[in-house]
Amino acid sequence: MFKFIILAVVAYVFYRALKSWILPKPDASRPVSDRKAGEIDDIMIKDPFCEAYFPKRNAVHYRENGEDLYFCSTSCRDQYIQARSDEKTN
Ligand SMILES: [Zn+2]
Repeated sequence: MFKFIILAVVAYVFYRALKSWILPKPDASRPVSDRKAGEIDDIMIKDPFCEAYFPKRNAVHYRENGEDLYFCSTSCRDQYIQARSDEKTN
C-alpha cells in the first residue's frame, strides 16, 4: 500500500513536470492576433525630460497646468519637476 502512494506521488510530480515542460511551446507559436488586445494602446511617446521614446502604457503620468506629461520613470518625472521649480526660483 505504501509503495502505491509513493508511485502515485512520483507519477503526479512527473506529470506536472511534463505538463509545464510541454505547455510553453504552443504558447510561442500562437498567432499574433491573439496578443493584439493587450498591445492596442502601445504607442511610443517621448519623455520630455530624458527625450527617450517608450511605450505609453509604461509611462509615469504627471499633470501640470492642465497639460498631460508622460515620463519613462518616476525619477525622470521627479527630476523634471525639480528642474521646473528651479527655473521658477531663479
Ligand atoms: Zn526618462
